[in-house]
Amino acid sequence: MNQLNRLTRLSPEAFASNFAENVPGLTRKAAMEESNRCLYCYDAPCIKACPTSINIPSFIKRIATDNLKGSATAIMEANPVGASCARVCPTEELCEGACVLNDESEPIKIGLLQRYATDWAMESGQTLFKAGPSNGRKVAVIGGGPAGLSAARELAREGFAVVIFEAKSMAGGLDTYGIVSFRLPQPVSLWEVRQVEKLGVEIRTGVRVGVDISAAQLAEQYDAIVLAAGMSSVPSLGIDGEELEGVYDAIEYVEGTKTDVPPFAIQGAQVAVIGAGNTAIDAATCSVRLGASNVKMIYRRTKEEMTAYDFEYEFAKQEGVEFSWLTAPKRMIGDSFGRVTHLECVRMELSDVTGKDGRRTPTVVEGSEFLYPVDAVILAIGQKRHLGLIELLGLEHNQGVVLIDEATRRTSNPQIYAAGDIVFGAGQGEAMVVSAAEQGKQTAYAISRFFAEKQNTAAI
Ligand code: SF4
Repeated sequence: MNQLNRLTRLSPEAFASNFAENVPGLTRKAAMEESNRCLYCYDAPCIKACPTSINIPSFIKRIATDNLKGSATAIMEANPVGASCARVCPTEELCEGACVLNDESEPIKIGLLQRYATDWAMESGQTLFKAGPSNGRKVAVIGGGPAGLSAARELAREGFAVVIFEAKSMAGGLDTYGIVSFRLPQPVSLWEVRQVEKLGVEIRTGVRVGVDISAAQLAEQYDAIVLAAGMSSVPSLGIDGEELEGVYDAIEYVEGTKTDVPPFAIQGAQVAVIGAGNTAIDAATCSVRLGASNVKMIYRRTKEEMTAYDFEYEFAKQEGVEFSWLTAPKRMIGDSFGRVTHLECVRMELSDVTGKDGRRTPTVVEGSEFLYPVDAVILAIGQKRHLGLIELLGLEHNQGVVLIDEATRRTSNPQIYAAGDIVFGAGQGEAMVVSAAEQGKQTAYAISRFFAEKQNTAAI
């Protein structure tokens, strides 16, 4: 029996069950009790630790007083993707990590309270914001992920007519497609998209800039452009065998699971995931839940250098994922059907030389090659930049990181602003959804300021 026949798909029922949200939300009683534990600190450190500066004590107080609409509004006001962030933010490194109660007992469960309030808004069909009076200006936003949605919502509230150009068939970006459903169910992200649409923002999906609409058309038809296209696919490793069947791009792999139908025949498979970032963890835990018999993460450095968060690492371990540290892939070997069967690896050691990112450089241990039997290999070694799009727009960049002026958020083309992963520098780990949301907001305010000043100058 060949590998193709040996591996099976999960049943739709098992798939639905395995990919259902794995952390239960708070009950009303638990939310009340938890919110009443908050000290409502003056100058609260939790607010300072939130990249979008959500007024955390204020939203918690509103939960305690049963004002859930007020609570959800306070959250979403500061963070247009606050329902997604309630689930995916590394809260122990942000707000909960800064909570004063860490020294006394346990930090307030800020993430779960945020989810409680935003879930209520979602389930009760609330519309939390409305568009501002028209100022007669039009803005095009390239990319409908967290940064683009956030910019679009704030621009609409400031009175701009906004059109989002989204290459995929749905907006939401990483929140809709790139985070495993058992952490972030797709309906949560799509609710946030609808909240933005309700402000009159038009979202044109399936439209690629440079293919379906030219950069020149955008420049001609809009007063300003916000580039928030995020990042692209996983780069090639440049080793033999990457073309074999059973070798996946981690982004596409996770995206494949954001559906109702079991996407891959992984049941019973031995899976190797190459990389140790957030997406690598998602690909590994997805594989476990798709029924893989063994999932190994292959990383050329050690746990100390991995870019995934501690809570992700702990979760992966709980799910049964194994870690092969100081190991690098050398080539993939296939069978006569063209399907991957083995991953040849080599042992690594950390040298005393430190790279630009401050991490010790791994070097190969000569003669240490060995084979892992595999049915699937998932590449998760970061993401490529949208070089083609950036160059089409003629923007200055540093290896695909668009250069902007921090104060004005303008690129080298004064009509084009940029936010989110596309301006996030390489070598700093992966950008957070919450940071992208904040950048989107700040970009909208920068555009609004620019046109207000222009109008004031014209009036003098
Ligand atoms: Fe409440 Fe903790 Fe924030 Fe203080 S630091 S306001 S206790 S969540």
